[in-house]
Amino acid sequence: MIMNGTPQGAGETVLVVDDETVTRTMVRQILEGSGYRVVEGDDGESALDVFSRSSPHIVLMDVRMPTMDGFEACRRLRAIPGGEHVPILMLTSLDDVVSVRIAFDSGATDFITKPINWELLAERIRYALRSRARDVQLRESEQRLAHAQHLARLGRWRYDFDARRIELSGTLSRELGFGDADGGISLADMVRRVQPGERRVLMDRLREVFRSTRSGEVEVQLLGSGGRIFTLHLWVERTERDGQPALEGTVQDVTERIAAEARASYHAHYDRLTDLPNRVLFWDRLSQAIGEARRNRSCFAVILIDLDRFAGLNASLGHANGDRVLKILANRLGDAIRSSETLSRIAGDEFAVIQWGPEDEAAPGQQLTRLLDSFNEPIRAGETEVNVSASIGIAFYPGDGGDVDTLLSHADAARAHAKRRPGVTYQFYTPAMGGDVRDRLATERALRRGIADEAFVVHYQPLVSLADGAVWGVEVLLRWEHPELGTVMPDEFIPVLEESGLLEVVGDWTIRRACEEMRDRDFMVSVNLSPVQFSRPDLVDRVLGIVEETGFPARHLQLEITENVLIDDPEAAAETVGRLRDAGVKIAIDDFGTGFSSLSYLKLYDTDVLKIDRSFITELEGVPANQAIVRSTITLGHDLGMQIIGEGVEGEGALEMLRRMGCDVAQGYLIARPVAERELSAWLAER
Ligand code: C2E
Ligand code: CA
Ligand code: CA
Repeated sequence: MIMNGTPQGAGETVLVVDDETVTRTMVRQILEGSGYRVVEGDDGESALDVFSRSSPHIVLMDVRMPTMDGFEACRRLRAIPGGEHVPILMLTSLDDVVSVRIAFDSGATDFITKPINWELLAERIRYALRSRARDVQLRESEQRLAHAQHLARLGRWRYDFDARRIELSGTLSRELGFGDADGGISLADMVRRVQPGERRVLMDRLREVFRSTRSGEVEVQLLGSGGRIFTLHLWVERTERDGQPALEGTVQDVTERIAAEARASYHAHYDRLTDLPNRVLFWDRLSQAIGEARRNRSCFAVILIDLDRFAGLNASLGHANGDRVLKILANRLGDAIRSSETLSRIAGDEFAVIQWGPEDEAAPGQQLTRLLDSFNEPIRAGETEVNVSASIGIAFYPGDGGDVDTLLSHADAARAHAKRRPGVTYQFYTPAMGGDVRDRLATERALRRGIADEAFVVHYQPLVSLADGAVWGVEVLLRWEHPELGTVMPDEFIPVLEESGLLEVVGDWTIRRACEEMRDRDFMVSVNLSPVQFSRPDLVDRVLGIVEETGFPARHLQLEITENVLIDDPEAAAETVGRLRDAGVKIAIDDFGTGFSSLSYLKLYDTDVLKIDRSFITELEGVPANQAIVRSTITLGHDLGMQIIGEGVEGEGALEMLRRMGCDVAQGYLIARPVAERELSAWLAER
């Protein structure tokens, strides 16, 4: 009894429950003819039994049956695992309005009237199955979103002006003590929980957004449930609800990120062994000292202390004992300075001190003598006692130099002189020692010569697609071939180029060279732009000019910028990004995770690619915090429609993790190091 034009099922199983054998048989014939599999039950009891055994995709259930009627069977079906969401169509008589109502109350999805319209039956089934599939999809994507938000510790909030209450969605609501379903908390209550110093800022920002209709953001600390302090990043938007203006936005718990940043910042600034400020922090303290001395018309000394023959001592005593000696010395030196002064370990066997106050340059003053005394007593290291000697160089602000570089290079020149004599020796700087070559200036001169001599080379590092291992593109990395020093890395010369205004010329040259060399390749060529380059008003014209002149396809050019250029001047950045993308050029956000790391900010710009900073990737295995950051960055980046690149992949483990996390592209020494064009060709050919 197959009818023409009947829609075909795809082998889904239909459970037909009816006490009348005839009806069941008819239904079976029709549905099997339409490509469905049919299983049967002749009352409520057997329906439950068959359902559990054959997990049908849909149920057709008669209402009136002996022992257990259709309503009861429907209710019970809903209660068993797998029965919550299955479509249940009730078979009711045409005029039985009451039955229809009870059917819905019992959890039925829809009803079909008896006598059954046989021609439409298969159509109704197909429709019910299709809308069920859509429900499933929707539910799944809602779950995914909730999961992503949970991972990113993200929720949505809304301010209800009538009730003067703030509502918060998601799991954060409970942790922050906003309650689950009781309609949030009052604005006053929430403000009371915000750190007192930040209340004004919060209210000002809310008011500002409300008045201006521009969106805004603010970070506050808030007392959550159980007395925990959370750092929250709020994104605020003015919207409309039922014709009324409303405020709403997202909230992200960034407590962990801030703590991780603080830890990272500590390790970036302090020496692990001695807990003293490291070289980086010393630089900073020194420039602060200069500022302070200039304002107060005071003076200070920069003292470099270089331990003599420490490498030999380390070798003979063993590293553990060497470390012990350094720690003891660090303690003694620390005791010899005042609390307002700085002692730093700037290299393995080198300490530096900033010491305030006028010193008589002819003889060591009291303060310097105390430092020297640190070396008098022998130091116990394991079984033996050792005497450590040092060479000390001293330069004064302002007499010997007015800036960080000069002071340090003069103190260093003095130290070199001290080193020529044995024992604990110190030396004040005198102009006769020379050392007046300021490094930066020398570098700048050499760079100018380098530009004239075309001493720059571009290297390419492959970017590989994680899905299939295909070459996705290359990152362009600049090198300087110095006549004496050999290959110099960009971290050493880009800042100098930047400061001296030479980076534009070299930057243009880099893009041009990459475009020429990679013109016939069928992949992305990704070029770094420093903030100075990006903010030039004529950047777009120059880039597009180069692309046109070299005949390079614009859609293969990607520019890497850091997110702070977006944040520093949002409007100009939006325009630049927009014009470049209109021309087909892709924009990648570089070093993501090290700066502001605001995905809600990125949402404002149409950028294509997110590069997760290599600091998270090289230490991905075994560092759960890194894994959490990488995972949620990937999830959220994808939500914004961006492709994700993980850079700094050094091990198989990290590569595999990135692949599992759904990262799109990988870059790193494991895959290939940056190489010149010729070697890149060879590498590509070999693959
Ligand atoms: P970046 O943009 O973060 O570039 C990636 C750096 O990571 C490169 O260093 C690359 O050699 C290195 N790298 C790649 N894979 C790994 C890995 O597995 N492990 C580790 N530890 N490192 C890896 P490089 O070439 O020294 O460049 C340093 C920085 O100099 C770049 O950092 C970029 O900010 C800047 N730079 C390089 N070329 C240019 C340029 O042409 N223009 C501008 N404005 N900046 C450039
Ligand atoms: Ca880069
Ligand atoms: Ca990077």
